[in-house]
Amino acid sequence: MATVIDGKAVAQTIRSEIADEVRRLSEKYGKVPGLAVVIVGNRKDSQSYVAMKRKACCDLGIKSFDIDLTEQVSQVDIIKQVHELNANPDVHGILVQLPLPKHINEEQVLTEISLEKDVDGFHPLNIGKLAMKGREPLFLPCTPKACLELLSRSGISIKGKKAVVVGRSNIVGLPASLLLLKADATVTIVHSHTSDPESIIRQADIVIAAAGQPKMIKGSWIKPGAAVIDVGTNAIDDPSKKSGYRLVGDVDFEEVSKVAGWITPVPGGVGPMTVTMLLKNTLEGAKRTLEQNS
Ligand code: NDP
Repeated sequence: MATVIDGKAVAQTIRSEIADEVRRLSEKYGKVPGLAVVIVGNRKDSQSYVAMKRKACCDLGIKSFDIDLTEQVSQVDIIKQVHELNANPDVHGILVQLPLPKHINEEQVLTEISLEKDVDGFHPLNIGKLAMKGREPLFLPCTPKACLELLSRSGISIKGKKAVVVGRSNIVGLPASLLLLKADATVTIVHSHTSDPESIIRQADIVIAAAGQPKMIKGSWIKPGAAVIDVGTNAIDDPSKKSGYRLVGDVDFEEVSKVAGWITPVPGGVGPMTVTMLLKNTLEGAKRTLEQNS
């Protein structure tokens, strides 16, 4: 049976490390890290993600700057807001909650965020540096960073291993594959046009699943002893639950946990780590700025 990687527990450990560092920074510089979270409109899911991020800041002594804009806000006004946050010395990280309403050009807004404050790691220059050999981005995207942190804190080495990433989105699959490559894995990406994904996945020592397809990856697709990190978060009907649904990953946990060496559960795996990496990025950004200016 696979070792189940407890993302909640790992996240808790990292959060207490962050809180210690925040205290140290405050003693040394008289300043705490600041994170601005910009939300546009009233989407329920976005509201709950943002509330979670703001609460997590509060819990660790990070100052949260709350920018709530109406659904009708213009692109010019969002960008003006981003410029103000770029210029605010107490803000070390800026996050614009996605998706933005249809009339807003997301790419343009994200590009306006100062590189030094791009704690989501989505700025094209940060992604570009991630893709280049010998270059280091200022920030790594939170979910891929969470996946690698779970591997390293579980004692799983990456160098020289065969890794397969399922999915190639800009926020998870693609940056996860670039990070694994930087860590010296041999990386293959499986996407919706890949033929015979099972035989490719079966060769992997490390699998990162981020396809958004409930329980797609079966036990027979996994090399015995492989490390399986399940990013997928899919709601499926479950009449036994009060809500009428439950969350499952892209991995068939029951089957795969009998074959893999390590596996992350859903929920309780990558999810709790993602917000924690956002806080870690904010801390790192603050440290960099405060050290440079001292
Ligand atoms: P996207 O829908 O943007 O991307 C999905 C990717 O998976 C695409 O590249 C797509 O290929 C590929 N794909 C879809 N179906 C298949 C298939 N049958 N076989 C192989 N590849 C397939 O999703 P995201 O990257 O945003 O998210 C992926 C999952 O991770 C979702 O369940 C999401 O909820 C979850 N998630 C979890 C987070 C967390 O913190 N735990 C954070 C972010 C996301 P193609 O490019 O060809 O279309």
